[in-house]
Amino acid sequence: MPDAVHDAFQRPLASLRLSVTDRCNLRCRYCMPEDDYVWLPRQSILTFEEITRLVGIFAGLGVTDVHLTGGEPLLRHDLPTLVRMIRAERRIGDLALTTNGLLLAQQAQALRAAGLRRVTVSLDTLRPERMRAFAKSARHGDVLAGIAAARAAGFERVKVNTVVIRGFNADELADLIDFGRTAGVEVRFIEYMDVGGATLWSRDQVVSRGEMLDVLAHRFGPIEPVAARASAPAERFRLADGTTFGIIASTTAPFCGACDRSRVTADGTWLTCLYAVDGLDLREPLRSGATDEDIAGRIADAWRGRVDRGAEQRLATPERGALYAIEALRADPHREMHTRGG
Ligand code: SAM
Repeated sequence: MPDAVHDAFQRPLASLRLSVTDRCNLRCRYCMPEDDYVWLPRQSILTFEEITRLVGIFAGLGVTDVHLTGGEPLLRHDLPTLVRMIRAERRIGDLALTTNGLLLAQQAQALRAAGLRRVTVSLDTLRPERMRAFAKSARHGDVLAGIAAARAAGFERVKVNTVVIRGFNADELADLIDFGRTAGVEVRFIEYMDVGGATLWSRDQVVSRGEMLDVLAHRFGPIEPVAARASAPAERFRLADGTTFGIIASTTAPFCGACDRSRVTADGTWLTCLYAVDGLDLREPLRSGATDEDIAGRIADAWRGRVDRGAEQRLATPERGALYAIEALRADPHREMHTRGG
């Protein structure tokens, strides 16, 4: 196992989120509210061979966890082949996928057989009519079928991610816990963030970690914290009956101090923070004959100088509103959440 490269605040380079496409088949209000977007040019999208080569380079710098995301990663043709190629890199211990679940029922078995270990499905509401209004999709049943198929396929863990927004789904917290218990999946509530395409964000729509815990304690009784990996984004909790759940408090209690994550977009732009203004172009050296050592050197140098703590800086911003207006996102699609991966 190589020694991890550390940044200016002694945070290791350990976890990599790989966006395999910027396309998505939902239009969630908090992420991609517009009908159409400025898409990454097709010829700029990294091939599976290029992605796998990058994974090997990152593994050599200490990365052990890879998380496939998007856009909607299941829109990328033949994802199980990429999973198999990444699994061949033995230094990557954990390989997971985040999906909206629409296409999961068809692909769960093949992904598991290819070596994918964990799946997280985004499910923001248990009410189909709310999904229709909020994500412009009538396919709520497909998401539930995807969750069931993931359970049946035998992944090591299946989780559900719920972005909690006042005025939309904040009244469903307890119902989602009940759903998770019945479905055999752990639910993680995510505070609404002002990143990328969240152009409709406002502070009053954020339901804080504290408020979520109050609501759940009122319904279920005492809640106790569960010890978790320091760098894990979710804080985990347990109800009296043993049911566990997580909260990702990126907005009101950011965890930048322990952040070991970086992101590669589908066109090979490497970002050292979800809030980073820009990133390092890895596609150019990949395609212009640079050696692995050369690319590793560029990544290591950038990581050693990393001082990002974007979510904490946002927290300290007075009069906080949406980070970007739609015009700014159109000017550079790399600022989009669906390009960076969540
Ligand atoms: N399409 C996949 C999915 O739905 O999970 C992967 C990409 S999506 C960008 C990854 C995660 O980011 C999802 O769990 C999504 O809910 C979350 N996300 C997107 N915009 C967000 C926002 N403004 N605040 C909090 N979470 C957000």
